[in-house]
Amino acid sequence: MKRLVNILMLSCQKATELIEKEQYFGLSTLEKLRLRVHLTICDFCTRYKQQSRFLHDVLGHHSHDHATNVNESLKEKIINQIENL
Ligand SMILES: [Zn+2]
Repeated sequence: MKRLVNILMLSCQKATELIEKEQYFGLSTLEKLRLRVHLTICDFCTRYKQQSRFLHDVLGHHSHDHATNVNESLKEKIINQIENL
C-alpha cells in the first residue's frame, strides 16, 4: 500500500510539470491519475491548473508558428507574475 501511495504522490513541481505537459502533449493514464490525486489534496496546483488553462487559451493559439519564442517568454513572464502574487 505504501508503494502505491509513493507512486501516486507527486511533488508540486512535478504536478505543475504534468499540468503543462497535459496542455501540449496530453498525459498517459498513470500520469493523469497521479495528477488527479495530487489536485484533490493541493489547492495551489488546482489554482495553477486553472491559470495555466487560461494562459493556454489566450496564448496557445500561436504557439506552433514562428512567434513561439515570443509567446513562450511572455507566458513565462506572466506565470512568474502569478507565482509572485
Ligand atoms: Zn501541489
